[in-house]
Amino acid sequence: MNNVLDTIRNKRPLIISGPCSAETEDQVLQTATRLAATGKVDLLRAGIWKPRTRPGSFEGVGTKGLPWLQAAKKETGLPTAVEVATGKQVEDALHFDVDVLWIGARTTVNPFSVQEVADALKGVKVPVLVKNPINPDLELWTGAVERVAKAGIEEIGLIHRGFSSYGNTEYRNAPMWHLAIEMKRRNPDLPLINDPSHICGRRDILQEVAQEAIDLNYDGLMIESHIDPDNAWSDAKQQITPEVLNELLDNIIWRKEEAASEEAHAMLDHLRQQINQLDDELMQLLGQRMKIADKIGSYKKDHNITILQTRRWNEILDRAIRKGERHGLSQEFITRYLDAVHMESINHQNKIFNS
Ligand code: PEP
Ligand code: MN
Repeated sequence: MNNVLDTIRNKRPLIISGPCSAETEDQVLQTATRLAATGKVDLLRAGIWKPRTRPGSFEGVGTKGLPWLQAAKKETGLPTAVEVATGKQVEDALHFDVDVLWIGARTTVNPFSVQEVADALKGVKVPVLVKNPINPDLELWTGAVERVAKAGIEEIGLIHRGFSSYGNTEYRNAPMWHLAIEMKRRNPDLPLINDPSHICGRRDILQEVAQEAIDLNYDGLMIESHIDPDNAWSDAKQQITPEVLNELLDNIIWRKEEAASEEAHAMLDHLRQQINQLDDELMQLLGQRMKIADKIGSYKKDHNITILQTRRWNEILDRAIRKGERHGLSQEFITRYLDAVHMESINHQNKIFNS
């Protein structure tokens, strides 16, 4: 157990892999053996109880799969990790020596369930990884972490598995990287692990999402693997064989957080000073822009004109998108940036209207 704590705390990148679901003893053992053979995997994952969106899908083998994990650990030395969603599942998993527990996205959304899991964790020393909730809500994610921490769990990690959104996108779950980055900013001491499998929902873009996570300085990856991915009982489209996982990890360009040489340091410092200076200038310009918005606000108030004029707003957007493009700025960025600036202007003018 101490080895596992040490691994979770110190091994970077932390690599977690294994099937979406444990299906048969043979499948678990074979996956574990082939994962261990890569020499790159730190933790064997397998879903035992599967929270499925629709009834009728495979809902996991249940407690009878736990001895399979125990056997896989004995044979390969890989510590094991399982998703838990109820107090009973926590008890069963611990009874069968599971080394790491994780709370799934469909559980993180529900404070009652998280509390039940947390209550079952009282007095237990086991690392717990908390997946982001399915909806993009950092407070729910934070709440789940707090409940687990209050139960006395010292080793907590975050798993970013993307967020549900309406309609079809390139991803099964939109990564919304900025949310995970903000979560890490708020919890700098918690390891942040990326789960490209559930973000992508398909194999062909796993590599690029995993690379993006490493480029963003994530602490590890959780990637689903299966001995026969196409015939997996759950999440067949996103799973890869242990050998393909090995290749994927070989192809990743691993990065360091800090520049190694003096020269690289000096270069980065120099460029960062320029960034700081430009940020200062932008701030000053935005302040000036708001002062003009205030003047317009006073004028509108005196002449009984509405704050929002849709035609003018469209004109501002069109103009900025055209100009932005010339400076290499994406339409998406310009729109989001101007939305924020526009909201600030409206807030300023509201204040004037109410004064
Ligand atoms: C899983 O890890 O197999 C799983 C069910 O993930 P999530 O909770 O992210 O949907
Ligand atoms: Mn899965």
